[in-house]
Amino acid sequence: MKNCFWLFILIAGLAHAQTYTIQTVPNVRLIDNTYVSDPDSRIGSETVTQLNQKLATLEQLTTAQVAVVLLTSIGTETDVDFAQNLFRLWSIGNSGNDNGLLILYVEDQRVIRFHTGYGLEGILPDVICKRIQQQYMIPKFREGNIDAGMLAGVEEVIKIISNPEYASEVMAQESAARSSLEWFVLIFMIAWFVILVTVFLINLSTGFFNSKEPKLPSAALSIGQWLLLMIVAPTGLAYLLGLTNSWILLLGGLYVYFNLLVVAKYKRIINRALNALGKSKSDEVQKFMKEHNSWSEWAMLFPLPFAFLGRGYKKIMQGLRTHPRKCQKCSGKMALIPEVNKSNRLTEQQQFEEKIQSITYYIWQCNSCDSSLIEKNPNDKKYYAKCPKCGTWAFQSTQKTLKKPTLDETGLLVKVSKCKYCNHTVESESTMPMLQKRQRVYDSESSSNDNDSSWSSSSDSDSGGSWGGGDSGGGGASSRW
Ligand SMILES: [Zn+2]
Ligand SMILES: [Zn+2]
Repeated sequence: MKNCFWLFILIAGLAHAQTYTIQTVPNVRLIDNTYVSDPDSRIGSETVTQLNQKLATLEQLTTAQVAVVLLTSIGTETDVDFAQNLFRLWSIGNSGNDNGLLILYVEDQRVIRFHTGYGLEGILPDVICKRIQQQYMIPKFREGNIDAGMLAGVEEVIKIISNPEYASEVMAQESAARSSLEWFVLIFMIAWFVILVTVFLINLSTGFFNSKEPKLPSAALSIGQWLLLMIVAPTGLAYLLGLTNSWILLLGGLYVYFNLLVVAKYKRIINRALNALGKSKSDEVQKFMKEHNSWSEWAMLFPLPFAFLGRGYKKIMQGLRTHPRKCQKCSGKMALIPEVNKSNRLTEQQQFEEKIQSITYYIWQCNSCDSSLIEKNPNDKKYYAKCPKCGTWAFQSTQKTLKKPTLDETGLLVKVSKCKYCNHTVESESTMPMLQKRQRVYDSESSSNDNDSSWSSSSDSDSGGSWGGGDSGGGGASSRW
């Protein structure tokens, strides 16, 4: 007896976990001309009866055919493929107007799919299918009440098919409620950004971004905290509210954020330059001038802050070049010596550097004492280096390929560096690695499997009927729980 019991459990277990193919799903239409195929009794027999009655009435009134299939498992196949194949195999819906709908419930994948025929795609578009699933079925399924979920979902489907205007009513109500929520969130976000940007700019004027300054206000936020406040928090909120456009908020937030970083960078550069000028540190001013190069490129990406800051920035840049330096000796004002009077103050090498435009020199002369200051301003775009022999910034390198690398042999590269001032030359050879064989990737030809063996939809028998021969283009929607 005990063995029999265990055997029963085993068989019951196997039966429970049965995996169906489209061929093994009982076609109830052929068996007893009904609509609900539930071989593993996922819902009660009373529910099945109710559904069959409702769907029979629907077909009598509208000729639309709705098949409901509940399975424990379809193995590894996707619900979309399975539904499409089953739909075609059974030919649900009338062959004339393809008004069929397959409602597929797969327990182990926890998925409900509505697969609509061509003729129902207009009345039951994907959004409507999805909404019915989300609103009427999924919550019940989550509670484990498959009967109630299936009944509620099918009832909504019947309402819409028998009166298509009902769908637009549902949609209108939904979208009105939705768009007002989205408007609220949008206005909230804009207000949020405005407040944050204002706080940011106020903080910026107190220099909080320069974290190396000892007089930092303790309430200042780090860059990461700003990121959290400006983007992660609002986007997360929008996502939790289920807004479809939460990614727009993410991108918008990121853009505003980077704009602010640009403003912060501007502020930092200006501060540093003015600071250096005040301390009469010419090398720091040059460092600042260098930063100007990358700075102008930012304006293309972030035109908004530059519309406000650009002119002031130019003025400061101009001012930096001509701003009187402070004499280190007597603290008097130093004046810039005009270009024409420069040459007698510079060495021959320095004059050469100016000629090849590797370095520009600015000479400052104190008005009160005889001390002078020479500012060296290297030109980045000329690619000169300092000559190891004479020290002039006139060392230029060129590269030449002596031998090209092949698949079997390495190549040879020679680098010639020559000083334009003293002709000091340095040559160095280096090998180039062999070429790698590139593996060719062939596109696998996509094989089409269109040889559907459609059952003849015209054969009528006494024992049952048949689905009407409808076809589906794969429309519909799925939801998971
Ligand atoms: Zn002086
Ligand atoms: Zn040299």
